[in-house]
Amino acid sequence: MRRKLIAGNWKMNGSQSVNAALLSDIRSGAGQATCDIAVCVPAPYFAQCQSLLGGSSIAWGGQDLSIHEAGAFTGEVAASMLADFGCAFVIVGHSERRTYHGESNDLVAKKTVSALRSGLTPIVCVGELLEQRESGKTDEVVGAQLDAVLAAISAEELAKIVVAYEPVWAIGTGKTATPQMAQNVHAMLRGKLQAKNPKAAGEVKILYGGSMKPDNAGELLAMADIDGGLIGGASLKAADFLAIIRAA
Ligand code: PEP
Repeated sequence: MRRKLIAGNWKMNGSQSVNAALLSDIRSGAGQATCDIAVCVPAPYFAQCQSLLGGSSIAWGGQDLSIHEAGAFTGEVAASMLADFGCAFVIVGHSERRTYHGESNDLVAKKTVSALRSGLTPIVCVGELLEQRESGKTDEVVGAQLDAVLAAISAEELAKIVVAYEPVWAIGTGKTATPQMAQNVHAMLRGKLQAKNPKAAGEVKILYGGSMKPDNAGELLAMADIDGGLIGGASLKAADFLAIIRAA
């Protein structure tokens, strides 16, 4: 049985004082948790996570990274810099990056490789738009997003990634995929992982993301191939995030 992972995506939210209270509440409330926990924060707050979460069972990570190692790339943040601040995870290919920054499947694959080279666990996001779901293209779109990443990594590296299925129409909208809808896509993704590395595929966590909240987390997390959640809005409220952690 795969251990569940509950990862928060703070997006572009936070301040030193707000974060201090939120991290302290999560740290004290998560004491007995039986799942893995992470918070993915804006880059300026890596050091704060390192100081406030260091020595706890809660991991932290980033929300994006550069494909370059160093040099004349103004504004970018290298994988090695995330690692330097103790990040264990980095979100790659979030739909907001794909939509607002034009990130292609190819770029997302390169970012995944960069993350792995620095010892980070990439949380590779895939997901379809509403019109793609309505026109029956979900498996084709989401499958192609994962295929691009699988083509760029080795069979051994497969064991070191996390996949997050996030239907774009469910992110921040209050609409959630039904547990069965999500499970169907997760099972399709698991099949692709199996084709790449049958042994490791059973260990790879596939998270669901898209308006996961305390009141729907239990039924989503009960599905066979839903191994945790990537949580946006609800990760900004300690009580909600902790309730989802308890559901896991
Ligand atoms: C996300 O940001 O990845 C996300 C799933 O957001 P929300 O939980 O708010 O839908």
